[in-house]
Amino acid sequence: MTSAPRPPAHVTQSTNPFDAGDDWDGDTLHEECGVFGIFGDADASSHTALGLHALQHRGQEAAGLVTFDGEHYHSHRGLGHVSDNFNAESVMARLQGDMALGHVRYSTTGDTVLRNVQPLFADFEFGGLALGHNGNLTNALTVRQELVRRGCIFQSTSDTEVVVHLIAISQQATVEERVIDALRQLEGAYSMVAMTNSSMIGVRDPLGVRPLVIGKLDKAYILCSETCALDIIGAEFVRDVEPGEMVIIDKDGLRSLRPFPNADSRFCIFEYIYFARPDSICEGSSVYDVRKKIGAELARESNVPCDVVVPVPDSGVPAALGYAAEVGAPFEYGIIRNHYVGRTFIQPTDKTRHLGVKRKHNINRAQIEGKRVVLVDDSIVRGTTSIKIVDMVRQAGAKEVHMRISSPPTAFPCYFGIDTPSREQLLAAQHDIDSMAKLLGVDSLAYISIDGLYRAVGEAKRDSNRPQYCDACFSGDYPSPLTDLNAESLPHQLSLLTEGRG
Ligand code: AMP
Repeated sequence: MTSAPRPPAHVTQSTNPFDAGDDWDGDTLHEECGVFGIFGDADASSHTALGLHALQHRGQEAAGLVTFDGEHYHSHRGLGHVSDNFNAESVMARLQGDMALGHVRYSTTGDTVLRNVQPLFADFEFGGLALGHNGNLTNALTVRQELVRRGCIFQSTSDTEVVVHLIAISQQATVEERVIDALRQLEGAYSMVAMTNSSMIGVRDPLGVRPLVIGKLDKAYILCSETCALDIIGAEFVRDVEPGEMVIIDKDGLRSLRPFPNADSRFCIFEYIYFARPDSICEGSSVYDVRKKIGAELARESNVPCDVVVPVPDSGVPAALGYAAEVGAPFEYGIIRNHYVGRTFIQPTDKTRHLGVKRKHNINRAQIEGKRVVLVDDSIVRGTTSIKIVDMVRQAGAKEVHMRISSPPTAFPCYFGIDTPSREQLLAAQHDIDSMAKLLGVDSLAYISIDGLYRAVGEAKRDSNRPQYCDACFSGDYPSPLTDLNAESLPHQLSLLTEGRG
């Protein structure tokens, strides 16, 4: 039996095998996510499933889709990939309606449970509302504690649920005003899409930390995290939702509101470095082009004589191309990545555990042996990947190994929607460059400078008084208060309920 929460009366729920639930996923509020909503489209659910498929890199642990057919909402949510959940005809046939909202989710610690899988759905006095969120609310626990004191009963441990309760208790008249009222009480990063009985609402926090774009497919409007999700369904990219903007799409078209106080935008620079898909356009720039420019800047800053430039695939590829072009050295796939590595596929036994490192990457020896190799990766987090890769490159007979990283050292955790471990676990927070180079076993190690990174995104340099981007993972300069983190007393445990497979 599943211990997932019972859906509201008029939401139909599936019997997907993933719905059996999983171990309780603790109290984490940290999520990476992608959202996709479409309004006014006869194939709303299929287009949303395809859009989510294109956004799969933003969250691999769970996927959900809610549709509205003018009378009823229909939902299907499950753990696993989009294709694990939305391939069956029987599932898609149930998801009727010309409005749909979908979400892919990745939670950072513990297992994901079904009750945290978005879109969240609630019945209000004004009708139904489904909600999908990308980002992290930095005062969600503080607000939640107050709401619980006032009698709200939370169904999930997700930060997004505070928005649902704040909408429910708002005294404002219209659904848009209630959403605004709710969001004005929240801090942090939110790119959100809400679906109501008659509209689709998209909103981005005043700092615009996470992306959200508007697209069009004939007469249908789309709100989604990245433009690659528009491309997959042949939709046209209209524009970004601006930081602090709310767009409302209904039968009369699209309206724009500016309900929040003006702020300088702080788009997450790590979206360019690693997180967004290279074929997406973020804030007017091609992610692929930015990554190549970062590689070129990196080469100008820390060139070293070499015979070959090798990316750590896949995320290091565009930066390595930019690096190789800048120094005039050959770019080669000296490391091959296996794309079929599942997290739970072929669990090693004690005897085969040492082979585990080769599950994801293997060396293309002919491109490495006897050569001076520049290895390019986008970031070092804990250092596990780099230590393993450098060791393999050495064992394949490289003459020299020089590691080049297309981001500044990741020394601070992200509290705005990207999964990073605590400071103690971040290699760059614990070591200087020389000691990291020794740990990794490289002949030299260099990271791009913060100003080099800013040059690659088109700025002259980082303005330390008013940074143009959120670069807190490198600088520790967080763009808004970390209320929960600094709070003196907050609940250690959000729910006493543990869930298991039925
Ligand atoms: P690590 O092995 O912990 O040093 O992780 C570094 C690798 O993880 C790099 O090759 C990155 O491509 C990738 N990476 C960086 N940031 C993230 C993130 N937030 N989530 C998942 N992978 C990441």
